[in-house]
Amino acid sequence: MTASGRAACVIGWPVEHSRSPLIHNYWLKTYGIAGAYRRELVPPEEFATFVGSLAARGYVGANVTLPHKEAALAQALPDERARAVGAANTLWLDDGALRATNTDVEGFLDNLDACAPHWDRDLSKVAVLGAGGAARAAIYGLLGRGAARIVLLNRTPARAEMLSRAFGARVQPLPWGQFDTALADAALLVNTTTLGMRGQPGLVVDVAPLPADAAVADLVYVPAVTPLIAAAKARGLRTADGLGMLLHQAVRGFALWFGTTPTVTAELRALVEADLGADKNAKR
Ligand code: NAP
Repeated sequence: MTASGRAACVIGWPVEHSRSPLIHNYWLKTYGIAGAYRRELVPPEEFATFVGSLAARGYVGANVTLPHKEAALAQALPDERARAVGAANTLWLDDGALRATNTDVEGFLDNLDACAPHWDRDLSKVAVLGAGGAARAAIYGLLGRGAARIVLLNRTPARAEMLSRAFGARVQPLPWGQFDTALADAALLVNTTTLGMRGQPGLVVDVAPLPADAAVADLVYVPAVTPLIAAAKARGLRTADGLGMLLHQAVRGFALWFGTTPTVTAELRALVEADLGADKNAKR
């Protein structure tokens, strides 16, 4: 099949909030590929049947969003990173086999590489806030880049302890609120909580204890410039925001489905940022 005849989709329940069609259709147009990318509203009880018949429905692959990311692991052949993260967000057909990966890992890393070159030069200590699904992707990526010690702060301590058991002794839980201790000497601060997101409480963390050459990443992307990113910029720190991660995580799926590795451009960023800004209930 030529790239032009191919189609992919995002499967969710609900799915109308997804920005993936905006991103992938922008790239289809940019690269002159007459393929298609659609939304598919699929309830949990129909997910297995739906992904089992992707080819029959004319799809070469799919993104998977809430609440199907864990189910996707069971219905496809997950790679090592999807298994480690415990969730898959990208599926593709490989010679009839349905494979799965988690592109949040590379979205997180590639965005940091693009926004804060050499951020990983000395990762003797990194501070991560939050212990949900997004934290798992960030921690997996950070460990792969050689982080020697990740201090992990989460409101519910048991979840941080669970991640420490899952990822090993380099991940060290610290009580929520001990921000000054966590940030002192950290090369990188990562917010993976929902704090700072539109409609959620704010994240009250003073970035002052971070070293002057530290970087700050916020996974929250609504608003695009969160108070944490604004505070880090005001201190002159390098930053990588959640919108950049959202765009970078989409690259692999497009390459797998349509055979062209797309570029994250300022034009695409502006397009998605404007769309998110126009929608008061925006989520991925
Ligand atoms: P999740 O699994 O529900 O985890 C939410 C995290 O936020 C948990 O650690 C939770 O702590 C913490 N939290 C929530 N309310 C809190 C509060 N009032 N005080 C302190 N901590 C609080 O969600 P997720 O899937 O990891 O997503 C987290 C964020 O990452 C979301 O904003 C999501 O949009 C963003 N994200 C962005 C991208 C991207 O591409 N930019 C990709 C994935 C996720 P408890 O454990 O104590 O509940």
